[in-house]
Amino acid sequence: MEFRIGNGYDVHALAPGLDLWLGGVKVESPIGCIAHSDGDVAIHALCDAILGALALGDIGKHFPDTSDEFKGIDSKILLERVMALIRQEGWEVGNVDITIALQRPKLAPHIRSMRDTLASVMGIGADRVSVKATTTEKLGFVGRSEGCEVYAVALLTKNE
Ligand code: MG
Repeated sequence: MEFRIGNGYDVHALAPGLDLWLGGVKVESPIGCIAHSDGDVAIHALCDAILGALALGDIGKHFPDTSDEFKGIDSKILLERVMALIRQEGWEVGNVDITIALQRPKLAPHIRSMRDTLASVMGIGADRVSVKATTTEKLGFVGRSEGCEVYAVALLTKNE
């Protein structure tokens, strides 16, 4: 079996009155991500990790934010397309691990739902999808609730 590993990172600015989508789930929040798409910064980092594992560039290359096609798009569709792309080449996702840095709201009640949602979009078991959340102890732009930051790692496998 062949293995590849990739990492992804994304940041979106937060503003009042916008929806907050994270890991494919709408989180009840007075602030949400400013974005061309639905602003699901967790899915964006995840897509970049998967694409990165195969040196396929990033989501900005595959789904440009200058294109009307992707305006307000549900990021789950982007993740579906990324999965189709890697499966075309015979690759499968072994596991992914996502860390979301957000000062508020608390994400603990939504983690299970994010894992289940992402697993279902990716067509893999939820035991292969880890989602973790942290604050930054009120430090930096995350701590001031100016933005949400996400790190993701993906392991891809291919049977030889
Ligand atoms: Mg993004």
